[in-house]
Amino acid sequence: MRGDLTGLNSVQFNAVGSGSCMDTIDTNSDIKWKNCHGSLTCSPVERSQRTVVLEDFALRSELDADAAIALLEDAFSGVACGMALLDEDLNFVLVNESFADIAFGGETASRFSGKVDKIPFENWSLDHFQTPDGLEEVGLKADLRRAITSCEQGMAWKLRDGRQFQASAKRAQIGGYLVSTTEVTPRDTMEAAERARNMLREAVDALDDGIMLFDSDMNLEVFNTRASEFFQRDGNRFEPGQSFEAIWRRLALDGFWVLEDGVDPEDRARLAVKNVRNGAKYREIRLSDGRELLASSHKTDQGGYLLVYRDRTDQARVENLLEDVIENLPVGVAVEDADHRLTHCNDAFSRFYGISGDELKSLSRADRIAQLYDKLEALNDVPCDGFPLSAQRSIMRAHSEQFIPVEMKFRDGRHILAERASTTRGETILVMTDTTSLKEARDMLLDAFQALDEGMVLCDGDMNYVFGNDAWKKMNFEGAEHMIPEVGDSVVENLAALIAMGHYDMGGMSGEEYMQWMMSEMSQHGKRAHVKFANGRHIMGSSHLTSYGGALLFVRDITEQQKLEAELEQQREITHQNEKLSALGELLAGVAHELNNPLSVVFGYSQMLQGKINDPVLSERVDLICQSSERAAKIVRTFLAMARQRPTSMEPCPVNDILETALEVSSYSLKSNGTEVVVDLDGSDPHVTGDFDQLAQVFSNLIVNAGHAVRNKGARGKITVRTRHEGGQVQIDISDNGNGIPKDIQPRIFEPFFTTKDVGEGTGIGLAFSHRIVESHDGTLTVASTVGQGATFTVRLLASEDDSVLLTGPEVEHPSSRSVLVVDDEEGVARLITDLLTEAGYTVTMSTDPTAALKLAEAQQFDAVLSDFKMPQMSGDTFFRALRAVAPENAARTGFITGDAMSTQVTTFFKTSKRPHIEKPIMKDELLSLLTSLIGDSTT
Ligand code: ADP
Repeated sequence: MRGDLTGLNSVQFNAVGSGSCMDTIDTNSDIKWKNCHGSLTCSPVERSQRTVVLEDFALRSELDADAAIALLEDAFSGVACGMALLDEDLNFVLVNESFADIAFGGETASRFSGKVDKIPFENWSLDHFQTPDGLEEVGLKADLRRAITSCEQGMAWKLRDGRQFQASAKRAQIGGYLVSTTEVTPRDTMEAAERARNMLREAVDALDDGIMLFDSDMNLEVFNTRASEFFQRDGNRFEPGQSFEAIWRRLALDGFWVLEDGVDPEDRARLAVKNVRNGAKYREIRLSDGRELLASSHKTDQGGYLLVYRDRTDQARVENLLEDVIENLPVGVAVEDADHRLTHCNDAFSRFYGISGDELKSLSRADRIAQLYDKLEALNDVPCDGFPLSAQRSIMRAHSEQFIPVEMKFRDGRHILAERASTTRGETILVMTDTTSLKEARDMLLDAFQALDEGMVLCDGDMNYVFGNDAWKKMNFEGAEHMIPEVGDSVVENLAALIAMGHYDMGGMSGEEYMQWMMSEMSQHGKRAHVKFANGRHIMGSSHLTSYGGALLFVRDITEQQKLEAELEQQREITHQNEKLSALGELLAGVAHELNNPLSVVFGYSQMLQGKINDPVLSERVDLICQSSERAAKIVRTFLAMARQRPTSMEPCPVNDILETALEVSSYSLKSNGTEVVVDLDGSDPHVTGDFDQLAQVFSNLIVNAGHAVRNKGARGKITVRTRHEGGQVQIDISDNGNGIPKDIQPRIFEPFFTTKDVGEGTGIGLAFSHRIVESHDGTLTVASTVGQGATFTVRLLASEDDSVLLTGPEVEHPSSRSVLVVDDEEGVARLITDLLTEAGYTVTMSTDPTAALKLAEAQQFDAVLSDFKMPQMSGDTFFRALRAVAPENAARTGFITGDAMSTQVTTFFKTSKRPHIEKPIMKDELLSLLTSLIGDSTT
């Protein structure tokens, strides 16, 4: 390197002409040069600081000035430290590369020829040059000059990139000053700086954006890989130093850019330069291969230009697609910026206003609203809900900050829905939808729902009420009409309130449990739930999930159905009970029938013996046989009556007497237990129409049961028998203070064979029969019981007048002259009848063979004929028909004694023939009554 040495040659070279001249090489010297002109030696003086100072040089007299300068340049460039030679006026004469790097940031020689204060200080970290006046450059330069001229040692110089130097100035022997610099940057700072530089380089290279850095003259300094990917082609490589304009022009000429038609690439390149210099910020660049780049330029602090290129091909494609979609949407869409100016709007949106999108965009929001309103009014499309003021208000509301969707109904029938939504960047999206067809469809649907007999309710996804038809409102809110929800009300809260006010029959559940049950039923879509209301209504409901996540509930009123089902169930139960009883009755009737004849004989003859025995003991025994057999006969009849399901005889009976009889029968067991029996009978001696014995049996059953119930209580056991005549009814209560009957078995105790007693103790037919007997008397038998407190059985029967005197009538006369034909295949019975009638004064002809009897009847006219019905040789009806054929007069006086009242053959015969009859077992009085009626009958 060399500087301007013109002024130095004559003066200073003369001055050193007398200096020493060395032709040998000092072996202690570190650096030596020798050429044909002479030699120059540089010796280290301060090796420890690695500072090499040109201490001396010797120039042979024959050495010319040029050669000396060349030698000096060589010497300068050879040293690692920075070296600068300045003349007396502090103009640079010679600097080596190291010095140029520090002082001028690597500038070329032309830059540093000149005064020392030409050093550009922008690379320097100037804080150590602080002057009292601050950091002004003038002051700094003055400082630097002073430091050099005063040969200051160890001046600290610090560059912005972190490197640190020490500089020392010295008078040069040839005149002027020598300034040397030594780098003293701490090692780690250097490495860190290097690392930072490398990282920066890597980061810039890794960027997805193309980066190109141009200097202030717009020549390329640096570029990253992405930039070269964007623009470089074979044979078109970026080189540092290339001008922006040249690069641009070249790319344009190569067809790299897509230029507008007719634009000259040269002109375009110049325009690009101008744009960058003028600081044009963003531009879109289209490349011929279809890519789209977004270019931005920035001025650097150093006066250069940074150009950044971003590939937005994909983004542009998405944007275009989005724009296309929005443009073709059937709804009106617009975007409003934060200042409420329209930035975008699609065709559908501008059609709502009836003006072009561009025109629309130029309007302020208030103008837009007014414009829409004017337009609507001009088209007579004003909203009909209280137009025009409220219409304007509703549109305003649609544009309000509240983001509430607003539905407008226009006069022409159109429905418009206006909605708003905000973007994260503070813009507002406006959407206007023509919902007319939707509305119409919805109205049709709602009409259809309204016409349904079934109730239906629609809820949204948060279980808020949307719609419910009238049928639902009627079913669900009868008596609580004020609780019908409004649109948007929470269905769950509504339900909770209804529960709290006791609207539902919760079947013993607590409010909370019921709510839980309801919620769980509703959450099981499609499942049917039976809901009961406190007012007795029943509904069946099911919930279904809608496609939008809400719920659709269907409810059906099943109150009537429930009633019918309950009735049906009751009927079924009754039929079931009847079937059971009938089966039982038939069985018992069979047994009873077999007992009839022997019992008739026992009873009949015991009756005949009565009063004929003088021995009081025997007489008493006969009485006992008579009573017992009569009782047995009556029981048999009761069974038969039950099997027939009707009372045997219906006559006025004194209720108090019936009860006394019943108490008598059961008194023995009660007494032996010490049970207290309270008898509280109505003093008016009430009567009922019925069968005395059957009713006595009912009450005796009830008293025996009561006795069982208090059995374990001993003397604490108490039974109350009470009769009352009230309102045309006689009520008989039989109460005990036993253990009572648990609620769950109460309905079952009237079932045949239901018993809680041990085998041998209970049969379970007592109450079933009692119930049956009472019902056949058109009465009721009910029970009321509390466990631990006892039970009360109540019989209610219709009261009747006491006309027994009338019915009893006068004593029947049995004239001895009357003849009677008795026909019965069983001899014992035939004989009994004969004996009874003979004793009563009749003349009796007895026959055990119906054929023979027919002959007798044919031959003789009798006052009466008494025949058995079920005879092996001939049944009663055949006998009667034959008799009518051979002896019609005798037939007209025929009566029957039957032991088979159950068979349909028998009942049908009696119904059609209208023949009088009595049932076995035979009772004397009945027999005589029958005879009386026959003899009287025949006379008519
Ligand atoms: P049985 O007495 O043979 O069991 P019933 O038909 O008379 O048959 O009674 C049926 C059931 O009704 C009895 O087993 C008993 O459980 C209940 N019951 C009847 N009367 C009473 C009563 N007074 N107190 C408690 N339980 C009763």
